[in-house]
Amino acid sequence: MDNCIFCKIANGEIKTDFVYENDKVVVFKDINPLAPIHLLVVPKKHYADLNEIDDKNILAELLNAVKEVCKKEGIKSYRTVINTGSESGQEVFHIHVHILSGKKLGSLC
Ligand code: AMP
Ligand code: ZN
Repeated sequence: MDNCIFCKIANGEIKTDFVYENDKVVVFKDINPLAPIHLLVVPKKHYADLNEIDDKNILAELLNAVKEVCKKEGIKSYRTVINTGSESGQEVFHIHVHILSGKKLGSLC
């Protein structure tokens, strides 16, 4: 998708270190971390948000990548967050799963 920053990161147009990558998903560090560990799990294919996903396999790929990257990085306790829509706080309209860890996390909102 043109002018989508996460498409550009996922396709290598914007050079970014990936913490994890497979054929469907990339994982990289959030530029503005809200916890000592703050990763973003992003599908290579563009979907604006969760509501737009029409392929159950992508949902499985996203959560499986969460599990794989946490295993790889030794992250045992973590919170996952998916914001959907601007009222939820979504700012980048290419779906992503936040992984937050490395400190005792507070309430959800
Ligand atoms: P959300 O509010 O759920 O849409 O989350 C978007 C997240 O993307 C925020 O936590 C931003 O800090 C993060 N972000 C925005 N641009 C970049 C970037 N170029 N590299 C890494 N993270 C980014
Ligand atoms: Zn995109």
